[in-house]
Amino acid sequence: MKINIAIDGPSAAGKSTIAKRLATLLGYVHLDTGAMYRCTALKCVRTGIALDDEDAVCEMLKETEIVLTPEGGVYLDGEDVSLAIRADEISMAASKVSALKRVRSDLVARQQEMAKAGGFIMDGRDIGTVVLKDAEVKIFMTASAEARAERRYRQNLEKGIETSDIETIAEEIRQRDYDDTHRANSPLRKADDAVEIDTSYMTIEEVVEKIHSLALPFLEKEETDA
Ligand code: C5P
Repeated sequence: MKINIAIDGPSAAGKSTIAKRLATLLGYVHLDTGAMYRCTALKCVRTGIALDDEDAVCEMLKETEIVLTPEGGVYLDGEDVSLAIRADEISMAASKVSALKRVRSDLVARQQEMAKAGGFIMDGRDIGTVVLKDAEVKIFMTASAEARAERRYRQNLEKGIETSDIETIAEEIRQRDYDDTHRANSPLRKADDAVEIDTSYMTIEEVVEKIHSLALPFLEKEETDA
């Protein structure tokens, strides 16, 4: 049986980039749970549903299909929204909609169903504390707001996504950090058994190597058991 790896941490700490690399290295599937909150927010914005109207958002979710492909594609009701969900406006909207308790239960249930088979690297805010409490490897990834803003800015430019300047992005990141850590439902926090990695001054390769070394004992056991 393959193991699961949980990666949590604040916005733009590099979780997805690292998770993707690790998935390729291990032959695992990366599941970006933030994309599911972003899809929910995008559909609310498009259909005019208020981001704090829990009943309406939950009703909408019943009729909503979110598909994350192993290649990193994000499909909302069959439409490829991989780029649309990355707009700054949708980042803020996702943070708002993710505060709703029943929205979280709906999406968490979908995530748990997907990860049942093992072999997933799931990144988000509540993976180690709620979604995959039994994950063999749990990482809490952090970086300074400045380092994260600079990375997000460069990433936006590379991907051709419309972007604000670094200072505005840093402000938004601080606001989202505050919202994510202070909300009543599943606030962002490090699981007691998670290993914290501050990536501010680390290269992508160094972070991947660090997590790989933490996972190695479990991966070796996986091979012996197979
Ligand atoms: O990770 P990403 O920045 O794409 O997530 C978008 C928003 O979705 C976050 O600001 C956070 O509020 C929310 N989120 C969450 N729980 C997760 C993943 C994301 O609340 N597991």
